[in-house]
Amino acid sequence: MEQRYDCLIVGAGMAGAVAARELAEQGGQKVLVLERRNHVGGNMYDRFDERGVLIHQYGPHIFHTNSKRVFDYLSRFTRWRLYEHQVVANIPDGEGRLEYPVPFNLVSLRTAFPPEQAEKLEEKLVAAYGREKKVTILQLRQAPDPELAALADYVYDHVFVRYTMKQWGQTPEEIDPATTARVPVFLSEDCRYFQDEYQGMPLEGYTPLFLSLLDHPNITVELNTDAGQRLRLEGEQVLLDGEAFSGTVIYTGAADELFACRYGRLPYRTLDFAFESYPVDFWQSHGTVNYTVDRDYTRITEFKYLTGQDLPGTTTIMKEYSRAYTGAAGEVPYYAVINGESNALYARYKALADRIPNFHLLGRLAEYKYYNMDAIAARALELCDSLLK
Ligand SMILES: Cc1cc2nc3c(=O)[nH]c(=O)nc-3n(C[C@H](O)[C@H](O)[C@H](O)COP(=O)(O)OP(=O)(O)OC[C@H]3O[C@@H](n4cnc5c(N)ncnc54)[C@H](O)[C@@H]3O)c2cc1C
Repeated sequence: MEQRYDCLIVGAGMAGAVAARELAEQGGQKVLVLERRNHVGGNMYDRFDERGVLIHQYGPHIFHTNSKRVFDYLSRFTRWRLYEHQVVANIPDGEGRLEYPVPFNLVSLRTAFPPEQAEKLEEKLVAAYGREKKVTILQLRQAPDPELAALADYVYDHVFVRYTMKQWGQTPEEIDPATTARVPVFLSEDCRYFQDEYQGMPLEGYTPLFLSLLDHPNITVELNTDAGQRLRLEGEQVLLDGEAFSGTVIYTGAADELFACRYGRLPYRTLDFAFESYPVDFWQSHGTVNYTVDRDYTRITEFKYLTGQDLPGTTTIMKEYSRAYTGAAGEVPYYAVINGESNALYARYKALADRIPNFHLLGRLAEYKYYNMDAIAARALELCDSLLK
């Protein structure tokens, strides 16, 4: 039987959608995209809740990149709203609470310490490292001046360690010293969370961006379809609906699931999201507030800051709780727990996939890596460049 499709893509997230568009448009290929969820967009999916607030179902997503190629590419499918994300840490302070920007910067310094002490520290920091520079807490700890070393300890305690313990379920001893060493102090008044050249939010939201990306006569998207229902591996042969399939396969799902977790599950962290609505214009001070010292949740996001939605008298916030992923039905593997052991396990799955001709692992799940959306869009474009050469 003649093959109806030249290419099969598993997953309609950023990796799958960009690859589908490129192969369909530049390569003239007939592409079938299988998506197990009832929507496209992967974890970037957004929708209106019952109060009409545009929310991000799988956690807050802000676009930022230094890649002109990615920005120009995505700009074909959306207009942008200029938005520069700001995050503050919210910590207990005596009877009350204190908020200051993270990454910890000069504004944080002036908020956290009494004016005279802050001024003295700022002078010492700027003299030692210069303005607009990022200095790590490792560098500060190694500073000959004990006051700078003490500042490193303050930032470690109030911004980093407990947040990281919540996020990764670790004790302080288990936290990779290399990660600790990289915690930055930004000697600047720039309170933006990202400093990338291009920053913003899709004007109409992410879901319309994805619908536009996938809207091409050569692309067929089937939702509510787990790849396992259609795709089977027999040794190194791919079967689509029981027939040998010799076209390109781009798989963006989890690498262990592809092989029925035969060597064991790859470790991930999952998140529980608690959405709450309030009859006010705005509920908190910034788009995202990190609870870096106390509380069970890691952070709270208020979507209207991100989307700029003009909707007086109502708002929706989302609390994030992090825990170990177990693979139970309904759980989403969000963050790969990367260490020597899990990388070695991943390498065994990758070796199996590499034996299959024309078969490519692409994306944050399939490659067992953390990618920002711009990085994964860039990787999808590069993979297609090489496939279409
Ligand atoms: C909480 C959170 C916040 C983030 N915030 C940002 C941010 O602010 N800015 C940023 O740039 N990046 C952010 N990211 C990263 C961003 O989400 C990823 O870069 C992006 O989603 C990766 O796209 P992907 O296609 O690789 O994966 P996904 O978005 O996970 O898409 C994979 C798709 O494949 C489908 N799938 C999996 N297995 C199968 C199967 N067997 N059959 C059919 N379909 C299947 C899944 O349902 C999913 O739709 C964030 C990530 C998280 C977890």
